[in-house]
Amino acid sequence: MTIVRDSFYINGEWVKASSKDTLEVTSSGTGELYATIPSGTVEEANEAVEAAAAAFTSWSNVSPKERGEFLQRISEKLAERADEIALNISNEVGMPLMLAKGIQVGIPTATFADNAQRAMEFTWEEEVGNSSLVREPVGVVAAITPWNYPLHQIANKVAASLAAGCTVVLKPSEVAPINAFLLADIIHEVGLPKGVFNMVTGLGPVVGEAIVAHPKTDMVSFTGSTRAGKRVMEIASQMVKRVSLELGGKSANIILEGADLTKAVPDGIFKCYLNSGQTCSALTRMLVPRSKLSEVEDLAVAAAAGFQPADPITGTSFIGPLVSAAQQQRVKDYIKKGVDEGARIILGGTDAPEGLEKGHYVQPTIFTDVKNSMTIAQEEIFGPVLSIIPYDTEEEAVAIANDSLYGLAGGVWAESDEKAFEVARKIRTGQVEINGGAFNIFAPFGGYKQSGIGRELGKYGFEEFLEVKAVQHG
Ligand code: NAD
Repeated sequence: MTIVRDSFYINGEWVKASSKDTLEVTSSGTGELYATIPSGTVEEANEAVEAAAAAFTSWSNVSPKERGEFLQRISEKLAERADEIALNISNEVGMPLMLAKGIQVGIPTATFADNAQRAMEFTWEEEVGNSSLVREPVGVVAAITPWNYPLHQIANKVAASLAAGCTVVLKPSEVAPINAFLLADIIHEVGLPKGVFNMVTGLGPVVGEAIVAHPKTDMVSFTGSTRAGKRVMEIASQMVKRVSLELGGKSANIILEGADLTKAVPDGIFKCYLNSGQTCSALTRMLVPRSKLSEVEDLAVAAAAGFQPADPITGTSFIGPLVSAAQQQRVKDYIKKGVDEGARIILGGTDAPEGLEKGHYVQPTIFTDVKNSMTIAQEEIFGPVLSIIPYDTEEEAVAIANDSLYGLAGGVWAESDEKAFEVARKIRTGQVEINGGAFNIFAPFGGYKQSGIGRELGKYGFEEFLEVKAVQHG
């Protein structure tokens, strides 16, 4: 049965959309209609910002302890409804259900709890010489989010900004929006004061741009493509608004001479293919010593055999389909481009995986002998496509890793952690995992270069939503 949502969450209540225009959400595993949501207008976006602006003074004066208690209750309700939300995200995004509960719901649930704690324990004032430094919320936050880890990206912005004392207008992705409605239901249930959290769904150029441009929005926190991020920054610059941008990536995984290939290659495959490659920090370029190329190719093909896609709800694979037909076509076009530009394909291709003609499936694909100048090594594909790039010296490997417009993440494998850390310091990215290090929800996440501005998660992510005021004593 199709899920139908027809209202926006504005000023503490569900408000029926003024227009009959709706946006369709498809189920990624079947390609069938999954839900419809309302397409907001500029007027509705403005109404939401006005509500957030009106609520700001009182919310910013609610004690951090009380703000933290609200966030803690939201976290608990998310945990209670984890099965339902995971099923929803598996349908919308295509991440297998067995992974979605921990990753797509568990991480945002923990992020709300972490920000609850942060609000309560944060040092809001400190003394420096004859000054008191006071940390204050930045104001009304426009939060715009993508579809790939939809609730995680919402939590990074909403939990941290509410903890800081900001009020929020959320414009979630129109591609995977139902989880945002479920969060808004939970926020309503816990009784957050009216106007503190607002949500309007719709198209980026309409609702997104309206909330960015509104004079009462103080800050824009955006996650999405570099293309849309540039547009957001351009609009926000007209009023010198603070912007935080989490954008694309094309991350390199440097496997050094001496690394244990039997560990490095399967780990690299997993970190490229997780969520069908629809991860901004996916390790999509595997850099390997030329002398080890054929050994790495064999290990990569063997490891990828464990990643044959399957239905996200009923299957038992690590990967499912891509999010949408448009994304599926985009990925296939990149695979074709890789072949046209002379990269050698050793696994996968543009044909649908066997038995999965319906839904948005793409075969896990591996290119080798890739040159870093090729399109598939420079542009973000956002699909299960790995490029293996051979190098001759360590210096060349670092240069290839850094030869990118992006600077989000990376990996280094070496014979020791010391050696891997030494090389990690030379990579111009916001995160680097060495010898298989795992994602840490308390570590700052964000990019250098065109991967963005600012950080999310943990202490640094929370402080993004704060101003600092210096009060000098006479
Ligand atoms: P997208 O840029 O198409 O959309 C992201 C959001 O921005 C959506 O809500 C969309 O409606 C909105 N939007 C689009 N145009 C807009 C405009 N002109 N003004 C205001 N808002 C606008 O991105 P997507 O396809 O949803 O997500 C995939 C992209 O997100 C990838 O490039 C990926 O790397 C990036 N991403 C980055 C991070 C990170 O933390 N760095 C995390 C996840 C995804």
